[in-house]
Amino acid sequence: MPFIKVNGLPFMLINLPKGKFILFSKIFWPQDFFIFAIAMITFIIFVVLFTVFGRLFCGWVCPQTVFMEFVFRPIEWLIEGTPGQQKKLNEGEWTFQKIWKKGLKHFIYFSISFLIANTFFAYIVGIDELFKIIREPLSEHLVLLSGLIFFTYLFYAVFAFVREIVCTTICPYGRLQGVMFDKDTMQISYDYKRGEPRGKFKKHAERTDGDCINCLKCVQVCPTGIDIRNGIQMECVGCTACIDACDDVMKSIDFKTGLIRYASENEISESRKFHFNGRMKAYTGLLTLLVIIMGVLIATRKTVDTYISRVNGQLYQELPDNRISNLFEAKIINKTRDAFPITWRVEGVDGKIDVIGTKLITLKSESINKFYFLLSMPKLSNAKG
Ligand code: SF4
Ligand code: SF4
Repeated sequence: MPFIKVNGLPFMLINLPKGKFILFSKIFWPQDFFIFAIAMITFIIFVVLFTVFGRLFCGWVCPQTVFMEFVFRPIEWLIEGTPGQQKKLNEGEWTFQKIWKKGLKHFIYFSISFLIANTFFAYIVGIDELFKIIREPLSEHLVLLSGLIFFTYLFYAVFAFVREIVCTTICPYGRLQGVMFDKDTMQISYDYKRGEPRGKFKKHAERTDGDCINCLKCVQVCPTGIDIRNGIQMECVGCTACIDACDDVMKSIDFKTGLIRYASENEISESRKFHFNGRMKAYTGLLTLLVIIMGVLIATRKTVDTYISRVNGQLYQELPDNRISNLFEAKIINKTRDAFPITWRVEGVDGKIDVIGTKLITLKSESINKFYFLLSMPKLSNAKG
């Protein structure tokens, strides 16, 4: 998103140090913070609503899992082999083969972490600034460069060593799963009614056990190292790797697939189909309302905001022609990328404005402009403006 530009503006920029935010190529200022607050609440409700489908967000949206399972883990498989081979390699002596395999893996991990850190920075400082760091002498961008190096090491540490601990221990969303789940929540479930009792598969022998042949393939592929057959666990990130592994096993022995599948507890224990319960309906209603409010706020957002206040501690002055005047401060925020002139006038009352400086002033683009002006009115005016 930070690389896409619409009308010269990045699609997304979250420049916290400068308090400048661009969403959908629209500039937002700290004065628009209420839109951000509503956007945050909408996002939280969205995530909570999606929890009815289990940790779908964790398994398929969260960058931690997406990078881990779609980028870093496949590289590990490619270089070090299956989980069994990896375990053997980890426990083995430091041979030449182990050194180059580990070295290559960590070199690739570090390089990808560097790219991720660059992209992360593009969200914060924008691509133009990022390209400046790349093109210009590094000594001119020491602060940004140290940030880039810090985040490269941070991402490298997360993806190479910390890994699932982020999902199981650090992430607050993961810790909150327990309170957001109920018996209608769709999640990765083992069909214990069909699978138990477990027993080895014997070709041509009549099967008296359940469908689980205890091959442990589902445990081996699990990134968080859990056994889903022990029931729903907080560590499950909903990546569905165990579903694929078990379905492959089921196909190879001519059993029906779906022993591990997406299902709610009620679906497994009472064979009851998934239904949209009251809680889900309430969240959906709330989410729709928030999205409408946000849409209206964004569509009706003004591109110029003006705040006028009397200068602190300034008392009114009596003028000789039976008029009074006072000094005011005008703060005009131009949120657009264009500079344009403004003129001053009093409307509805018999007043006069004397801007200190000149009357025709140009508002600079993307800037907060401050002006001072004297407002004078007849003393007995009953204007309420
Ligand atoms: S492999 Fe299965 S149990 Fe393990 S995290 Fe993925 S979905 Fe959950
Ligand atoms: S992969 Fe399927 S059959 Fe094998 S142990 Fe897991 S649940 Fe049982």
